[in-house]
Amino acid sequence: MSRFSEDSELGWFLRRNLAVMLFIVIASVGLFVLYRNFTSTEERPYTVQVGGEAAIPAGLTLEDGGTGYTGVEYSDVSQKFAQSPGPLKIAIVAGHRGSDSGAVCEDGLQELEINEGVADRVQRKLEAENLPVSILSEFDNRLSGFSSDVLISLHADSCAPLDPSFTGYKTTVNASPQAALLQNCIEENYARATGLPKHTTTITDDMVHYHAFNKISAASPALLLEMGFMYNDRQRITEGADGVAQGITDGILCFLQSR
Ligand SMILES: [Zn+2]
Repeated sequence: MSRFSEDSELGWFLRRNLAVMLFIVIASVGLFVLYRNFTSTEERPYTVQVGGEAAIPAGLTLEDGGTGYTGVEYSDVSQKFAQSPGPLKIAIVAGHRGSDSGAVCEDGLQELEINEGVADRVQRKLEAENLPVSILSEFDNRLSGFSSDVLISLHADSCAPLDPSFTGYKTTVNASPQAALLQNCIEENYARATGLPKHTTTITDDMVHYHAFNKISAASPALLLEMGFMYNDRQRITEGADGVAQGITDGILCFLQSR
């Protein structure tokens, strides 16, 4: 074969496979770009450094049986993805705890007992779902700057012998961005679990400007729940405390799942 003919054959080969070679070059560049973009810029992830002779402590050789020593020393591992978020923080204020008894009935039944009983039940129900709950007192020192995924303060309304129209629950929320969602979830689930109506005409300034709303972090969703009237709804919020707690628990779960 003449030299001319060899050149010609090489040229023919290159021209014929140009498309394949271009594809290989472009694909290689593309894969490299993808690798750079999806890998931590700090350090390649999950790198391990294999220890050499120097990594083996003096007096210990690889032949030392039973120690499990492999001669491999791990370096710091850089994480490719952000750390998963910590456990959820759920707080319940047992209304009037550490302060006073709240409303009191003629026979001595105290609002504080009702609030604490329901708070304990909500705590047990959520802990059964592996969700830890902190119970705070009414003027808990921790409330200042407090930050949580959700805070619910539990209260019950007057035990004065009011006419039967004074029945039902009511809520107020703070000004956090997720407060409306929290309010919807609690009201819907509470009404379903207890059968109690919403009582909208007795929402006081103390409820709207609830002291804890002004203490906790402004971004933390918080709700004040008056669970019912101690006179007309007494049975529902005492003997029916488990249903009350279930409604609050379902409301909290609804909120945490729909955020
Ligand atoms: Zn109260």
